[in-house]
Amino acid sequence: MKIQGHAAGGWLATRLFLKHLSPADRSESNNLLILGLIGGVLPDLDYLIYVLKKGRITYESDFRHHTWVTHTIPFYSIAALLLYILGVVNKNLNLKKAAKVLSISTTTHLLQDTLGSGDGIMLFYPVTKKMYGIGLSGLHGEEWNDHYTKTPFYRLEMFIVISTIITFVFDAFHNRKHRKKS
Ligand SMILES: [Zn+2]
Repeated sequence: MKIQGHAAGGWLATRLFLKHLSPADRSESNNLLILGLIGGVLPDLDYLIYVLKKGRITYESDFRHHTWVTHTIPFYSIAALLLYILGVVNKNLNLKKAAKVLSISTTTHLLQDTLGSGDGIMLFYPVTKKMYGIGLSGLHGEEWNDHYTKTPFYRLEMFIVISTIITFVFDAFHNRKHRKKS
């Protein structure tokens, strides 16, 4: 999926687990959701490594970041786990919640990358480097983009984005009503 689908996916997944994270108030909820949105985009920031290597901003068919360690579940789960342990040691509840959101949103991103991408992802890394996914095109860069936007997976991505916007508006409306009452 593309950046908007990942941002929406991270937000929506965090929204789904929000009750479980038991935020103290509205502002904490919002912070967690924004963190979820950032976490949803985070794995694709490895694009910057590609740009640095190339020495220019480009998006060609040799861009194969799904084969990198930055697109594996343990890469982020270990980071989230370390953050969580840091939260436990320092008795910092915010860190523990942030660790959970990071884990939820980055895992969502990686699962989204199994749908209609070029290669899929190394779903069971480090056990195997085999790439898994559904509707994989084998294409990369602009070629992937041209193909992907014509597939049902792109419509699924649009559905995720629209669902996120609707949920966001619904939540905002609900909270306003709530505030007026109290
Ligand atoms: Zn990705």
